[in-house]
Amino acid sequence: MKELNIINKAKCNVAILAGGKGSRLKSRSGDIPKPLAKVCGLPILEHQIKLCQSYGFTQIAILIHHQSELIQEYFGDGSKFGVTLNYVVEETPRGTAGALKDALFLLEERFLVLYADTYADVDLKLFWDFDHQVQSSGTLFLHPNSHPYDSDIVEIDKKTNLVKSIRPYPHPENEDYPNLVNAALYILDKSTISKIVPNEGMYDLAKNIFNLILSSGFLLRGYVSIEYIKDMGTPDRLDAVESDINGGVPEKLSVRNFHSAVFIDRDGVINEDIDHLSNPDEIMLIDGAQEAIRYLNKTGFLAIGVTNQPVIARGEATFSDIESVHLRLGKLLGDGGAYLDSIYYCPHHPDKGFFGEVPELKIQCTCRKPSTGMIDAAVNAFNISRQSSWMIGDRTSDILAGKRAGLRTILVQTGYAGRDYLYDVDPDFVAKNLKAAVDWINMGFSQVCQKITPMIPSFIDSRLLLIGGASKTGKTSFAKVLKEMLGFLGRDVHLISLDGWLDPERKLNEGNGVLSRYKIDQFVSELKGVFDSKHRRSFIHPSYDPISGEKLKDKKMSIGPNDIIIVEGVVALLDSRLLEMASKSIFIDLASETERTNRLIYEYKFRNKETDHEIQVKLQSREIDEVSVIRKNSEVATYKVTF
Ligand SMILES: [Zn+2]
Repeated sequence: MKELNIINKAKCNVAILAGGKGSRLKSRSGDIPKPLAKVCGLPILEHQIKLCQSYGFTQIAILIHHQSELIQEYFGDGSKFGVTLNYVVEETPRGTAGALKDALFLLEERFLVLYADTYADVDLKLFWDFDHQVQSSGTLFLHPNSHPYDSDIVEIDKKTNLVKSIRPYPHPENEDYPNLVNAALYILDKSTISKIVPNEGMYDLAKNIFNLILSSGFLLRGYVSIEYIKDMGTPDRLDAVESDINGGVPEKLSVRNFHSAVFIDRDGVINEDIDHLSNPDEIMLIDGAQEAIRYLNKTGFLAIGVTNQPVIARGEATFSDIESVHLRLGKLLGDGGAYLDSIYYCPHHPDKGFFGEVPELKIQCTCRKPSTGMIDAAVNAFNISRQSSWMIGDRTSDILAGKRAGLRTILVQTGYAGRDYLYDVDPDFVAKNLKAAVDWINMGFSQVCQKITPMIPSFIDSRLLLIGGASKTGKTSFAKVLKEMLGFLGRDVHLISLDGWLDPERKLNEGNGVLSRYKIDQFVSELKGVFDSKHRRSFIHPSYDPISGEKLKDKKMSIGPNDIIIVEGVVALLDSRLLEMASKSIFIDLASETERTNRLIYEYKFRNKETDHEIQVKLQSREIDEVSVIRKNSEVATYKVTF
């Protein structure tokens, strides 16, 4: 038994399933039916009607069940919203598929299906056009999500986009599956629904009908998109959706806009670097990797894996081995609510002539990092803005690829920690691991930008800027952001780190005052040569491995008479000659001394593998002859910045 309320005889190209009771939202929305529950002040159904209207879908069938009169009263004939609404009111529950079948007489040959308990910001026109490229019984909108373990997983053929299987949850404990989830937005074919869905009884589209369509030999296609669509049917989910909207996440993921991405190397960054990783059972996530990627997912950054896998060219692993490794990686991340929006891998290797190799993959390709092929492909596929995107890696090839691709780069101190020394390249920033790198992208970086912005006018005409402060307060990162910001304003800026002038014999000077550990006279005289010159001069910047202390290749700088020089280091504000030359000086400190000490302990352990006792002795000695001296001297600074 059903009651029809047909206002307009024109056929609809949208069906919105709006039969939900909203009992799980009762604590929030009271007794109103779910389609009237408010998201950021408007009923969820109104958001959907507006979405349809904005893409030109104006003939809409609303399939309702509970308290239908309240919904009809609010939306009326739809003219207020620029659409025509037809209501189908159901008295006996038939499930989503049954309800749809009973409303087919109102629908066009092909129609969109939306669920009234999802919030979506999807380009329906693009979705519609994709569906029309190939004949099928329907197209399902698919995406990775933060809870694949309790979602229906859809497997598609990556080349044809044809759906291979739909696996309703729960999923067996020991089974890997792709994080590609049915988002509850479809385009369906009227005749297939008419044939497949029975006339009586309860049927659910996702749980029963799609698999029936596939097993009857009809085709379904998957449309994979990063656009925002989320269920808001419980108080927690409603809160999450509202917080996403307020944080601009749907906007950031919309195809209307360029996207910001974080490109992440795989081995040594997301998972522990194991030689010849080809067995999924060997993958171990690095601490904090799930959390880091989940944070990117939540804040509207695309998380994209880019990994060199020469094991394939060397014949040590097959494409299918690597695919199963990635399936497991996706599963492990998914268990922690995190996902990669995509993962690109290069199967090539340039050096020919080894036993067991795959000759056709032994080529000089354009995708193997430090080439930028994988990043370029993702930039095109996802409409990524390079200026607001980042590369995180543990090898110099990652950093060089990121730089060549026009991204900001972060070297992590996990995996190789930059000690492959294959390419002479400086990362923009250094972080102890992926989690710290992502925290820097999401918070640290913008905090530093905010602190610097008001000071910029007083820096812009400088010749020499000094940045000082105790170890591990963030001087180097501050200096790098400052260099970038002044660079945007058209100034040529050179960054000099006083660590290049640390005395190799400094261990003998422990306890004799911090200045005695630097070759400061030599530095001042070299700097003065450039500073006073009216012509462009070259400047040699010594450089050392931060871990072993071994000498690395000098960096050659070419400094013009109008360029800005930034000198940063623990002792930058301790030498009166430097202070006299400087236009401005900045003292950096951390509000939390505990935080600073923790960073220092981590650094000591990372560098020298010192014991806890050795570290405590060193910390105490440094407190007396370094930290207290530096803090006392902070009064000379033009600006004091505390984080
Ligand atoms: Zn390649």
